[in-house]
Amino acid sequence: MKKKTVRKNKHKSNFKHRKKTRRNTKNNTKNNTRIIKNIGLYDKPPELIIIDGFKILLLPIKNIGACYISCNIHGGFSHETPKTRGAIHLLEHVLTSAWNKCLDNVCSGITTKGIMHNAFTNIQYSGYYAVGNCKDINIILDYITSITLSPVITQTNIDIEKSAVRTELYNLMQTNIWNMYYAMNKALYKDKNIYESYNFESMLKNIDNLTLSTLQDAFMETHVPDCMIYTISGNFNRSSVISTLKRMIKNKKPACKTRCLSTQLYNSNCYKNQCAIHYVKNIKASGVYSMYLVFPTELLAHDDAYIYSTFLKHTFGGTMNGIFHKILRSKLKLVYSVKVESHTLLCGTIFVINTTVTHKNFLPTIIEIINILKLYSNIKLPNAELASIKNTYLTEFLLMCQTSPTALSKYYTHQYLAKARQRQKIKTIRQMYAEIVNISGSKLRNCIKEWFDFSKAVLIYSGQHEVRFSKKNPLTWENLLQKANK
Ligand SMILES: [Zn+2]
Repeated sequence: MKKKTVRKNKHKSNFKHRKKTRRNTKNNTKNNTRIIKNIGLYDKPPELIIIDGFKILLLPIKNIGACYISCNIHGGFSHETPKTRGAIHLLEHVLTSAWNKCLDNVCSGITTKGIMHNAFTNIQYSGYYAVGNCKDINIILDYITSITLSPVITQTNIDIEKSAVRTELYNLMQTNIWNMYYAMNKALYKDKNIYESYNFESMLKNIDNLTLSTLQDAFMETHVPDCMIYTISGNFNRSSVISTLKRMIKNKKPACKTRCLSTQLYNSNCYKNQCAIHYVKNIKASGVYSMYLVFPTELLAHDDAYIYSTFLKHTFGGTMNGIFHKILRSKLKLVYSVKVESHTLLCGTIFVINTTVTHKNFLPTIIEIINILKLYSNIKLPNAELASIKNTYLTEFLLMCQTSPTALSKYYTHQYLAKARQRQKIKTIRQMYAEIVNISGSKLRNCIKEWFDFSKAVLIYSGQHEVRFSKKNPLTWENLLQKANK
């Protein structure tokens, strides 16, 4: 009963959207030349058209001969249940060759033309993409729409891909990084479906239970207009692409009955928000320790402060002018390198500080990291340092957005994907550039204070032996913070 109401509303809103898009299309045609000329700094949100409920994002680029076409889908590992564990990943493998012109896993119809294709799955999304010469755009469109709307799933292909997935998992399990990630996600998230999707052992065990019908069900649950977005970037003819897509979607669209399930991840109640320390034994570790220091935040991609999360990675983790590099490596000689990453899900953003140290340097390094984070929660980064990090970031940003249809596609697609789930304005590259220029030292300090909250911090470390302060004193957050305060 409830489902029906949701679907009705969804159709209504799609209809409204379509009307709006038509109006926008008219206005945009006039300005097309200008937009294309300034491609690196797109100053208007790109055109989104809706065909039969499916979203198509158009990113024209003149003077580039390669066309990149992708289909991104809400539907990652977090959709799985114990029974279907591993199904979304296997489905991704199977779909990449589920075109009627691919035989036994080989898609010579596209590869002979130099069209490169691949796919990915993460906890939240699956994506399929192909890039080739723009003169072959109709073949690329046929390939991408076929595998995502009317795939030919055969038992032969399932068997081939099951063994590929097994090898991939064994390969990842050669190091114990997966084990640390599993421990980290178990300590961070309440939702079992989220953290169990990092459990490679249970994934391996379940592969044999995945059948053709499990994959078909997984396909029907996720390949729903509401969950998907197609992106086309490169030098293409707009009206020809639209009419080709209309024809292809009409002929291929599956009889979807369900709605997008990914809303299950969208709640403010994802995290455990408790500090924790977990040790993962690694007998092969020969005297070194790897550590992940993790901070969960509720920061989402459409928040105004989001730009600061990327900036923070440069501020602390930059390889040349990053604060950790300067203090922990150059000044104190504690580490070789420190990586700072951030991952944004519908739950929020987590910051991950990752390094490898000797046993002797283990405690001093953590204590120093705590001290640095505390210091920059209270003082503003000196202007000269702020400017230097900003300039590195601006260079990387321009390089990313001005050089390839792939980067441009990723930049906008992720925004439109998030938009489907949350109310959000699309940020053009020009706006993003201006935001980086305007990053302020005091706002940065406030973000550090808010996001690096030790009452929620999770430390996962791995080595031959468990670490303690002393025989009597175990490694706890309480002890660490006390030492750091001295
Ligand atoms: Zn894979």
